[in-house]
Amino acid sequence: MFLRLTDEQRMVQKTIRKFVEKELMPLENEVLRNEREGRPSLPPGKLKELQLKAKEAGFWGINTPAEYGGAALGNVMMAIVIMEVSKTFVPFQFGGSADNILYYSNEEQKKKYLIPTINGEKKSCFAITEPSAGSDTRNIKMTAVKDGNEWVLNGEKTFITGGNEADFVMVIAITDKERHKATLGREGVTCFIVDRDMGWRSEYIHTMGEWGPASLIFENVRVPEENILGELHGGYKLGLEWIGYARWVVGARAVGAAERLLQMAIDYSKERITFGKPIAERQAIQWQIADSAVEIEAAKWLVLNAAFTLDQGEDNRHLASMAKLYGANMGNRVVDRVLQIHGGMGYTRELPIERWYREARLWRIYDGTDEIQRMIIARNLLKGHVKIGQFV
Ligand SMILES: Cc1cc2nc3c(=O)[nH]c(=O)nc-3n(C[C@H](O)[C@H](O)[C@H](O)COP(=O)(O)OP(=O)(O)OC[C@H]3O[C@@H](n4cnc5c(N)ncnc54)[C@H](O)[C@@H]3O)c2cc1C
Repeated sequence: MFLRLTDEQRMVQKTIRKFVEKELMPLENEVLRNEREGRPSLPPGKLKELQLKAKEAGFWGINTPAEYGGAALGNVMMAIVIMEVSKTFVPFQFGGSADNILYYSNEEQKKKYLIPTINGEKKSCFAITEPSAGSDTRNIKMTAVKDGNEWVLNGEKTFITGGNEADFVMVIAITDKERHKATLGREGVTCFIVDRDMGWRSEYIHTMGEWGPASLIFENVRVPEENILGELHGGYKLGLEWIGYARWVVGARAVGAAERLLQMAIDYSKERITFGKPIAERQAIQWQIADSAVEIEAAKWLVLNAAFTLDQGEDNRHLASMAKLYGANMGNRVVDRVLQIHGGMGYTRELPIERWYREARLWRIYDGTDEIQRMIIARNLLKGHVKIGQFV
């Protein structure tokens, strides 16, 4: 066991850090201004421009297999990259990637959806949540009924990230009601790739964050048989795989943001004088800094372990739930303390802390709420699926 980054990982971390400091952080004021004046965070085309700059620096398709032009650097590297990029709130992700489940595409689907998505020519989203089914995905109602060589989809999805912008959706619908009921939702659902121009429409949802997900409305949307992703009736597995990946990624985002926020608090506490001394000299402030540092470190190891386990080809779901639960809550505690240390200034819109405070709240909700992660972790232990101390 070697608990340090390799030279290659350290080099990538350093290069990404430089990219974030040079290209992204200088945009922060503009992003805040745009958002506060009701405009998109970045002007049109800016994300693409940044992605191309990153590509020139060698960062394209970080976790994408080499056969699709990616760097295939693996999940630990991905975690390192996400933690670095999350040190800014500028909405950026590296180009050259696609959702993990889109790799289940057949050859035709690869040409039509996977490769254009990797190349940045098409945008995707993934939809399982419905108005009556969030945590309880077994309760979905959207149906797909076979008619000749097509499936006819009816129903509504909600809270879909990227649903306002996507060219196509990977959507989960019931294809066999009896089987769905008999297997408590594990079978009888199928994932379909559905182009926007096949007829679904999206409606923007306003949230407390700076961007909104969408409701997707399907009214007799006809989807050709060849647009089934993976196996007929096998959509539940794909759904779990998509959500499972997203979980430890949330933890990684929280770590990156919390590290930057804690540094802000350390810097501010040394400058802010009250009663003749910097607040950094008060135990009340020091303990908040110390607790935050310990919790960030703990979350980071959970994230890296979840990513490492996935790289070993092992089942990382238990660890992913732990990284999500702890990371999301750590992020919320840290941003709250950092806001407190900044006093009234922390509450203003002159600093980005309040923005992060609102964003962090989402980490505890999407991709499985706190309660659902606890349920999974406890169930794994109580049923003996995972033993205490199994991983290290
Ligand atoms: C901004 C945003 C983006 C999202 N992006 C996507 C996306 O891209 N694709 C997608 O499909 N979905 C997406 N979601 C949906 C998200 O995953 C769900 O909102 C989440 O899983 C919770 O479901 P729910 O909102 O229906 O809450 P509910 O399931 O109704 O839960 C309500 C409350 O009850 C608790 N609860 C539920 N069941 C139990 C239980 N058994 N025991 C104890 N407590 C319980 C929950 O933890 C929660 O506190 C997104 C949501 C948001 C807000």
